[in-house]
Amino acid sequence: PTSKLPDIGSSIFSVMTGLANASQAINLSQGFPDFDCPEQLVQLAAKYMHEGFNQYAPMAGMPQLRHQISLKTGKLYGYQPDPETEITVTSGATEALHAAITAVVKPGDEVVVLEPCYDSYVPVIRLCGGVPVFVSLALPDFSVDWDQVKKRLSSRTRLIIINTPHNPTGAILTRQDMDILANLINSTDILVLSDEVYEHMVFDEQEHYSVLQHPGLRERSFVVSSFGKTYHTTGWKIGYAVAPAPLTAELRKMHQFITFSTATPLQLAIADFMDEEAHYLELPAFYQAKRDYFIAQLQASRFEFIPSAGTYFQLARYSNITAEHDLEFARRLTTETGVAAIPVSAFYHDKTDNKYLRFCFAKSEETLKAAGERLAKV
Ligand code: PMP
Ligand code: GLN
Repeated sequence: PTSKLPDIGSSIFSVMTGLANASQAINLSQGFPDFDCPEQLVQLAAKYMHEGFNQYAPMAGMPQLRHQISLKTGKLYGYQPDPETEITVTSGATEALHAAITAVVKPGDEVVVLEPCYDSYVPVIRLCGGVPVFVSLALPDFSVDWDQVKKRLSSRTRLIIINTPHNPTGAILTRQDMDILANLINSTDILVLSDEVYEHMVFDEQEHYSVLQHPGLRERSFVVSSFGKTYHTTGWKIGYAVAPAPLTAELRKMHQFITFSTATPLQLAIADFMDEEAHYLELPAFYQAKRDYFIAQLQASRFEFIPSAGTYFQLARYSNITAEHDLEFARRLTTETGVAAIPVSAFYHDKTDNKYLRFCFAKSEETLKAAGERLAKV
């Protein structure tokens, strides 16, 4: 039988974590914390399981959780989406992205993708028969060249996917970027899918600017977030999508046949824990301290870097060290040096190699220190 995704193997996250485990390397590759989520969250989940909340949740998500998402969105971004018609709880942001893309992309539709990009977007576009139209972010700061984007728009463009703060580069989009994007698509039917899973990880006094803050964009956008990132619970796989009612209706048609609904007791636990606003208000400082600790370790190495503006990833350039392709170097760094990272070429459709590795700093200081000592010797 012919494959529907002939060019796709195991994701780079599975590959590098597998190699890290096999080599007993320090794993700074796949993005996940090596510390636990708040104890209260675990207790709440256990409580709801003991109380018997163990059957299907409503398809769109537990009402309590949608209500909390609506309040929080109103408070942070000045727009309170309707929990009934504009918020859908999904099995991680991955499912929200899948449902949003499959809801709107038809065969032959073009989707603008800014590279490097998170690895789940393009395969879904292709499964829909859509045509990804690639625009590279501009080195060295990975900013968006909106003139390039403009040139790539056509009468067949259906969707533009953006991601801020950006995985893998840590770059963030500003209000000005959003204004330019809004002007570009103002007089078209082009929709936006905004992946904002790292919304609470923005550093150096900068602020996350959400598509939900922009009336002109909000009315034509899916905005996706993930509790996995915000609450150190990547293994819970709870995320959500916010979109205007007509787009939400289409997204839910997909969601109901992908998973139908998402783990009931985990949704209830998160809904209660969302009252602890301090948790996400303190997240920027929490992760900035980790970034600063990690880059202090990197100073002693031959890696070159610009401090990450957001996410829990730091890019580092290694052209001073070797001319190897980044996948080769990442493998060797894992097996010989004992530190695993993600080769950034994995985020380009043609495996463009700009000699960057991505390190995840969502780790204890002990882990970061040990990794830093090894990296300093490379
Ligand atoms: N988008 C981006 C940019 C991500 O980094 C991730 C997590 N790796 C996801 C989506 C998926 O999030 P989740 O784990 O909630 O499915
Ligand atoms: N989002 C995480 C990363 O970028 C990994 C997610 C996954 O393993 N699928 O590393």
